[in-house]
Amino acid sequence: MRWSKYYLPTLKEHPAEAEVVSHRLLMRAGMIRKLTSGIYTYLPLGLRCLDKIARIVREEMNRAGALEVFMPMVQPADLWKESGRWVVYGKELLRIQDRHGRDYCLGPTHEEVITDLIRGEIRSYRQLPVNLYQIQTKYRDEIRPRFGLMRGREFIMKDAYSFDRDDEGADASYRAMYDAYMRTFTRFGMVFRAVEADSGAIGGSFSHEFMVLASTGEDTIAVCTACDFAANLEKAEAVLRGVGDETQAPPMEQVATPDKHTVEDVAEFLGVEPARILKTLLYEVDGRPVAAVIRGDRELNEIKLKNVLDANELNLATPEQVQAWTKAPVGFAGPVDLHVDAIWADREVGMSRDWISGANLPDTHLRHVDPARDAVIAGYVDLRQVTAEDPCPRCGAALQLPKGIEVGHVFKLGTKYSEAMGARYLDENGKEQLIIMGCYGIGVSRIMAACLEQNNDENGALFPPPIAPFQIELILLNSKNQELLAQATALHDRLEAMGFEVLLDDRDERPGVKFKDADLIGLPGQLILGEKGLARGVLEAKNRKTGERTELALEDLETHVR
Ligand code: ATP
Ligand code: MG
Ligand code: MG
Ligand code: MG
Repeated sequence: MRWSKYYLPTLKEHPAEAEVVSHRLLMRAGMIRKLTSGIYTYLPLGLRCLDKIARIVREEMNRAGALEVFMPMVQPADLWKESGRWVVYGKELLRIQDRHGRDYCLGPTHEEVITDLIRGEIRSYRQLPVNLYQIQTKYRDEIRPRFGLMRGREFIMKDAYSFDRDDEGADASYRAMYDAYMRTFTRFGMVFRAVEADSGAIGGSFSHEFMVLASTGEDTIAVCTACDFAANLEKAEAVLRGVGDETQAPPMEQVATPDKHTVEDVAEFLGVEPARILKTLLYEVDGRPVAAVIRGDRELNEIKLKNVLDANELNLATPEQVQAWTKAPVGFAGPVDLHVDAIWADREVGMSRDWISGANLPDTHLRHVDPARDAVIAGYVDLRQVTAEDPCPRCGAALQLPKGIEVGHVFKLGTKYSEAMGARYLDENGKEQLIIMGCYGIGVSRIMAACLEQNNDENGALFPPPIAPFQIELILLNSKNQELLAQATALHDRLEAMGFEVLLDDRDERPGVKFKDADLIGLPGQLILGEKGLARGVLEAKNRKTGERTELALEDLETHVR
């Protein structure tokens, strides 16, 4: 590909709205452009990367025996009413009406559509198991779309759904998907971890999340320093407290609720004198912390979180106070996070946003709150970090709490949807049975962002070769020299014949501009062709990641470029 004929608008400056490195790089490297909040266009370079990710996902899904389909994005409300999710899904579901006034939604996920398909087709145990997947645009009306492709409203997901006759079969399907995910994420060349997860709102019996480790991750995971226990924080807590779904709890002793939320604990965690903390309370529902009130003295600023469940305890901050927090995050030394536990409970007990609207807070405040996920007011203090010294639930050793980006999620759904929507089959004895389901998602577009969060330096992106848009950038130092241009074009073709995808920078630009752009877009290999080198029959090769440079004889490229 010749850059002069390509659409690759790089930016010199950091776009103001981009808060995280992946968002900045995707914009600056001319890979994406924003249409409106949380909705992006993929430019040619970005689309190549997205296609690479999708291709690997496809290969591993196919290898695991899943079959590709393509389902509609527009889904009739009737199906969602059957499953019960029309009511419970909340505002993340974008609802629309057709000209006849009939209700539809834009698919945030496809359990209803696939269950509807299967219940009309599968009659007998002989037709099971089956696993169908698609790679498709999803729409979720995220309350706080941010970080570019990381949390979009419109995004690309791979979603697979398995159908089995019994638990044994369903567990085997789950395992096959889990293994396929391990292979997939390994192939992307990123550092990731599979962690145990709560099956939460989707329901079902057990679940794992695949987390790319990155400090900008919105999730916290609990990883044991001694054994192989790793779980997301909700799950780790549920396990510690011995609550949650019994079927997924690994065998262990019941652990008593640790009382680590005293003034002293919080003070120790914050590294301040206990006297400076005026009040700290923890409310629990079913043994699970749901809300806290902490008040510090003036210097600490005031932090107040409140109980959403017990109206008597409501202790709402004034809008002025909230604004003060958001503007001038808490004045502790170092980065401190203030986590609103209340919102977690929100999601589970269906309190939705009443708590927030009841507070009559200004709209600006709402932007800082995400009921669907971890609520955030400015930065946040994760109170649960106070319990970081708890016993790993498996072996008792200390837990680490790194941040992660959720890039994949596997669920054993059980019969939640087949029961609600009547997906049954006839067994060997002619007896009707419910189909056992599983569902498996990968955030294809989020991976593009997660990959760059992990792979970058001060000059730009460092694409891992498997998902780099091209493997080699061929930098032509002087495009005005016709002989050089002809040589470069021949070299481009030769490298392509060797199986590389090559971007030839033949623009009429100064070498300095070309070098900067090459580092910015971060293709793994750079080959630099100039007049002097050509006279000697050599070109310069640079490894973008290591910075290593070597001189290569044009003659025997085939032996050296791999
Ligand atoms: P999150 O916790 O980040 O909101 P989720 O748990 O709601 O994600 P799932 O329903 O498990 O998401 O969807 C499967 C995958 O789709 C996720 O693991 C994630 O990689 C991706 N995904 C979910 N929401 C978004 C989004 N708003 N933008 C981009 N990718 C997303
Ligand atoms: Mg979500
Ligand atoms: Mg999640
Ligand atoms: Mg998830």
